[in-house]
Amino acid sequence: MPSARPATTRPQRVLLVGGGHAHVEVLRRFALRPDPQVTLTLVSPEPSMCYSGMLPGLVAGHYSPQDTHIGLAPLALWAGARYVADAVANLDLYAKTAQLASGEYLAFDLLSLDVGADPDLRVPGAQALALPVKPVSGFLLGWARLQAEALTGGVRAIAVVGGGAGGVEMLLAMHHRLATIMRAETPRFALVTDQPALMPQFPPIVRARFGRVLVERGAVLHLASGVTAVEPGTLVVTHGRRIAVDRIVWATGAAPAAWPAASGLACDGRGFVLIDDTLRSTSHPFVFATGDCAAQLDHPRPKAGVFAVRQGPPLAANLRRAAHGLALKRHVPQRHALALVSTGDRHAIAVRGPFVAEGDWVWRWKDRIDRAFMAKYALPEVPDAKEAKTG
Ligand SMILES: Cc1cc2nc3c(=O)[nH]c(=O)nc-3n(C[C@H](O)[C@H](O)[C@H](O)COP(=O)(O)OP(=O)(O)OC[C@H]3O[C@@H](n4cnc5c(N)ncnc54)[C@H](O)[C@@H]3O)c2cc1C
Repeated sequence: MPSARPATTRPQRVLLVGGGHAHVEVLRRFALRPDPQVTLTLVSPEPSMCYSGMLPGLVAGHYSPQDTHIGLAPLALWAGARYVADAVANLDLYAKTAQLASGEYLAFDLLSLDVGADPDLRVPGAQALALPVKPVSGFLLGWARLQAEALTGGVRAIAVVGGGAGGVEMLLAMHHRLATIMRAETPRFALVTDQPALMPQFPPIVRARFGRVLVERGAVLHLASGVTAVEPGTLVVTHGRRIAVDRIVWATGAAPAAWPAASGLACDGRGFVLIDDTLRSTSHPFVFATGDCAAQLDHPRPKAGVFAVRQGPPLAANLRRAAHGLALKRHVPQRHALALVSTGDRHAIAVRGPFVAEGDWVWRWKDRIDRAFMAKYALPEVPDAKEAKTG
């Protein structure tokens, strides 16, 4: 790549914060095409990334952790990046340093945030009593404990809070797993949402279909029931109604971390980092952001892993271009992403705009797509000459 910077300029320190779906692709692309003008550091508190498309399948028992996780330390090693097992707690955008939870400071020339967003637990009692679906590592530990307790008869009723695709798919996955191992003793499930309908971002036919599947599995639907408090053994919802539960899984919409907005980065009204079509902060040109933690000013999209995955290649290209002082390229996300939502068993529904299809074949199609994604990150990989040219 021709460089607009004089050849004597020192390499640019690129700090990747978060081992999310876009950053794993950045690492892969720099592994395939190393760049002496770039030194990479990855900071992530989690040692691996769980591929979001396969998380429900992991919970349902269709996949193993090895099938669904990408090891970040080996990926960083392959890319020649330093891996720091820590979390960023603060940014100083004047000094261009990130302070880690351990207190260490890391200096950077270019910063890229792909830190995701966790469910919003700001309901009284939720933090202490509910199991959030993110961070994934914490959720998987809690899920293992929940299964063990259910097997000993200690869990009779499970509520999932959140009626979006994530909550519905997670409920069906958990139900499938427990029904497989417990049969007639399977706990009862409830789905609790503040919205008047399930999966509001999906066409009515899809919402109705998932509603029927949930009822067939014995789940009770509590629509228009915003949770106002969580108490031991009870969810308190709109109008003071109380729902008795033994365990609560929290799968509500994502809430951003506070530190990006606190650092002075321009954010939207909810606190997600505002980016332009080059994936760069609208306020700080040396900062990039992708995935759930970002909001693309001119092309807002729902929070979904598929968008973060698609941002990986243009992010890698633009970090490289920025390090060389070259003009950045635009990335406009697709308007209608393909959503493949499983029903817990090996069956799924495909939705893209107005197009809807359903069947076991859809699950097998999804399985092939997901396994092909994961195969790209299997190490060691022989560099692909074609990708290496375009990366
Ligand atoms: C149950 C469920 C099912 C879903 N299913 C699908 C699906 O089928 N398809 C789909 O497209 N989307 C799905 N989603 C949404 C999807 O999970 C997210 O959109 C996706 O994970 C976002 O990717 P990301 O790269 O932004 O962040 P993530 O993949 O969440 O990664 C962020 C990483 O940053 C790290 N991090 C966080 N804070 C810090 C910090 N301070 N410093 C350093 N690192 C930090 C985290 O540890 C994490 O490893 C689902 C979500 C849920 C909850």
